[in-house]
This record gives sequence, C-alpha cells and structure tokens, in this order.
Amino acid sequence: MRFLVLSRNATLYSTSRLVLAARSRGHEVTVADPLDFHIVVSRRRPSMFLGDRPVPRADLVIPRIGASITNYGLAVVRQFDMMGVPVLNTAVAIARSRDKLRAMQLLTRKDIDVPRTVCAKTPDSVDLALKFIGGAPAIVKLQQGAQGIGTMIAETPQAVTSLLETLWAMGQDIILQEYIAESKGRDYRAIVVGQRVVAAMRRQAKQGEFRSNLHRGGLGVRVNLDRRYCQAAISAVRVMGLEVAGVDMLEGRDGPKILEINSSPGLEGIERTSGVDVAGAIILHAERFVMRKSKRNAKK
Ligand code: ADP
Ligand code: GLU
Repeated sequence: MRFLVLSRNATLYSTSRLVLAARSRGHEVTVADPLDFHIVVSRRRPSMFLGDRPVPRADLVIPRIGASITNYGLAVVRQFDMMGVPVLNTAVAIARSRDKLRAMQLLTRKDIDVPRTVCAKTPDSVDLALKFIGGAPAIVKLQQGAQGIGTMIAETPQAVTSLLETLWAMGQDIILQEYIAESKGRDYRAIVVGQRVVAAMRRQAKQGEFRSNLHRGGLGVRVNLDRRYCQAAISAVRVMGLEVAGVDMLEGRDGPKILEINSSPGLEGIERTSGVDVAGAIILHAERFVMRKSKRNAKK
C-alpha cells in the first residue's frame, strides 16, 4: 500500500517509527509537511499541490498534526477527505479532541466521567464556578494547551480569580477544573488503536510538580491497565471518532476520569516504557482500515 504521513519533520521519533514500521511491512511511505501543501478550492475538483507537483497518490493519509499548525493542518486533512483519499484520523475528529471543552462536552453526553469542569467568560461568576468544582485548589487550563503547558494550579480562591482575570485580559479561552488530589501527580496514558488498547503507561510527575507529562519531567512506568480504564479509554476514543489516539486519565476515587484525548500521541515515551511496537500496531490497523474502506467502496 501507499501511505502518506503528514508530519512537519520526518526525523521526529514518532514519524520515523511509523515510516520504518510501514516499510518493514512492504509499504511505500512518503512524509510531507502539511504546511507545504497548496489547497485548491474548487466546486467539482478539489485538489492540492505539494510544492509545484500534484500530491503523491496514496491509499491512506496518516495525519500527525501538531497543536501549532492545527488550523492549516486540519484544512489539508479535510481536503484529502474531500478528494476521496481515506484519512486515518479525520479532521473533524482531530478538531473535537483538540478543544478540551468540546471534548468534555461530548464525553459527558455519553456518560463518560471527567473532572468537574466549568467554562466562563466573565469575572462575575468566579465564586459560583469555584463552588461548583469544590473550591480551591483548582486547575486552570488553556482550552488548547498541550504537553502540560497551559495547565496551572491555583491554591486559593484569590489566586484563581487573579489567574482568570489575567488570562481573560490576554484573550485566552480557559477552563476551570476540579483538582483531583487523589491522583497524586499520577495519570495513565493509554494508546487506543482501532478500538483496542495496545499499550499503556502510568506517568508520575516529578517532585513538586502536579503535571505528569513526560515533557514536564514526568516518569513513565509500565502498567497493566485495569479493565475499567481500558474501557473508558476505548469509549472516549469512539466518542471522538478517532482511529488512533492517546488517552490521558486520572485515577479518581470512583474510577477513571478522562482528561484529554490526543489525536497524534507521541510514540517515544510509550514505546520505551511499555516495550510495545506501537508504530507497528498503527500500521497493521492502517492496512485493515484501507481494506475495509475499499470493500465498502466496491459495494457502492
Ligand atoms: P495537556 O494537554 O497540556 O497535557 P492536561 O489537561 O492533560 O494538559 O494536563 C496536564 C497534566 O496535569 C496531566 O497529565 C495531569 O497530570 C495534570 N492534571 C491535569 N488536570 C488535572 C486535574 N483536574 N487534577 C489533577 N491533575 C491534573
Ligand atoms: N506530545 C505528547 C503526547 O501527546 C505529550 C505527552 C507528554 O508530554 O507526556 O503524546
């Protein structure tokens, strides 16, 4: 098969692992930077150029769209979709998961547990919002944060108010969230590929830090994920409509609480920690996905 991986940089660990896994199974792979595409908007013949050439033919596009290029990256993914090229994670599914508030609204609609969360736009309601989430300390998050940047803890109601006022004045969209103290700086990352958890790890924040992101110095530990956590992760990914995702969960008193769903999960930490060939699992699923799509098209 011919795969096209959309990634800003072919030498990134995750991208190069996907390329290697695909080549080792006999596939052709091209890596292209989403920002290098020219989108041709046309009523009947949507198309694209890559530099001055037409886009390479592909049986499947595997998007790895980083947070810094979300808008244009998703426009490119959407254009492939419009051109009839299958994409492994669709633009709409990526967009759903990237917006923390939108993701939580969709999850709770399907009765999936998340930390108590409030979104507001005006300082008038801060006291009420704090009451709803159980008071301080509280977590304040940028709606579009990533890698732990944009997630803050405020220890007192005054700190919450001043943090919110500052961020609002800067024009940021924020959410206020209950601090799950019992998770003690730990969370779980599960990699879901085609409705199956293929790898998982526990991440432990470094001393004096509540964020367990590996980018923030957290340490990954291999775990066998409890069934309830596997099910929560799989359901969350299904609600987003993603084929491949990393799901972050906190350990609440009464079970898993979904924090976020990452449509381009980093592979380095999880592969090193779990020892699982996650890139291989993604490529295997990509093959099945293409077969399923072509069977469906043949029936039409
Ligand atoms: P990002 O998308 O930047 O990773 P998250 O919302 O996942 O942001 O938060 C980063 C980290 O902060 C999480 O991995 C978790 O360790 C910690 N964290 C986030 N929200 C909470 C919360 N409500 N209670 C306790 N810890 C939290
Ligand atoms: N980009 C990484 C991911 O989403 C962040 C993970 C982390 O920092 O732990 O997989």
